[in-house]
Amino acid sequence: MTQRLTTRGLVKRYGSTVALDGIDLDVEDGAILAVLGPSGCGKTTLLRLIAGFLVPDEGTVSIDGVVVADKHRSVPTRRRDIGLVPQEGALFPHLDVAANIAFGLSRHERSGPRITDLMDLLELPRDLAHRRPAELSGGQQQRVAVARALAPNPRVLLLDEPFSSLDAALRSSTGRSVVNAIRASKATAVLVTHDQDEALSLADKVGVMDRGQLVQADTPNAVYAQPASPFVASFVGEGSLLTSSIRRERGVAYATCSFGELPLANDIPGDTALVFLRPEQVVVRPDPTGEALVSSVAFHGHDAMVRLVNEQSGEMLSARVDAPVMPPVGTRMAVQLRGSALAFPQA
Ligand code: ADP
Repeated sequence: MTQRLTTRGLVKRYGSTVALDGIDLDVEDGAILAVLGPSGCGKTTLLRLIAGFLVPDEGTVSIDGVVVADKHRSVPTRRRDIGLVPQEGALFPHLDVAANIAFGLSRHERSGPRITDLMDLLELPRDLAHRRPAELSGGQQQRVAVARALAPNPRVLLLDEPFSSLDAALRSSTGRSVVNAIRASKATAVLVTHDQDEALSLADKVGVMDRGQLVQADTPNAVYAQPASPFVASFVGEGSLLTSSIRRERGVAYATCSFGELPLANDIPGDTALVFLRPEQVVVRPDPTGEALVSSVAFHGHDAMVRLVNEQSGEMLSARVDAPVMPPVGTRMAVQLRGSALAFPQA
């Protein structure tokens, strides 16, 4: 697969703040990459460098193998063939939907079917064509913003937290139709988000950032199942990190933590480790002789996340339980661990 967008050694500083600290990124032609990370990790700065709104202090941005930015020169945004969907859509308030979508098109293209095709692609009813942005819902506005950005067939589409102002239900339906539209347009996209569900469910590849560095870039499944560090493990999905000792028996390594013992998915040198457990690996049942107490319960409808505290070690563990049997706070529980645990060296 050819790389459509590449960055190498990208560094950006604001005074003494290192916002980006050597980013190497590859986005294949036609792929959707989600850049995921906590607030302040450098996501927006990365997007702005790719867009050409900022110039790197070091490193390069290349599109189709051609360098468009380094510290000496920067191809202007309008000549990078990039589409941008900002956080709040930023539609032109005085133009109707059709005119907003048509904004980047030539006179000839505007008279063809392109605008209605894009409206269909983004599941925007055609009778919205002559409404102004203020007469649309938040989700519809974001769909129009995506249609406008896709209209000129950009080589790369950049989306900056495009669904963050929408409520949860709207966020997932808008996200799905936007991704379908991006795929149908065969565009290559970079989606910046701090929402792990959005990143895991919408993208082909997830790049996780932490304090200016890209700490892992892989498929959603690999980032969830084989996180590269305790930070990625805890940031992507739910889970618990526990101190453990390691024992080895007939070539198999086992971790023993205060909640029990289980085999390691990866052996590491030494006889102690931090092991990471997903909530679905933890089976709990009320038991008056159990070692753990329920410290909090978060109800999610289909299931509940139960936080347990081990009375002896004081360590916390998250378990997912079916909602109908939610235990009240303070219930004493027995814990069983299943599957295998990922081990990380203790810091
Ligand atoms: P994110 O998008 O992940 O929230 P940003 O790229 O906005 O992160 O910011 C990365 C870091 O750079 C943060 O520490 C932020 O405070 C800092 N930063 C961003 N923009 C500026 C600026 N214009 N001036 C000074 N510091 C900035």
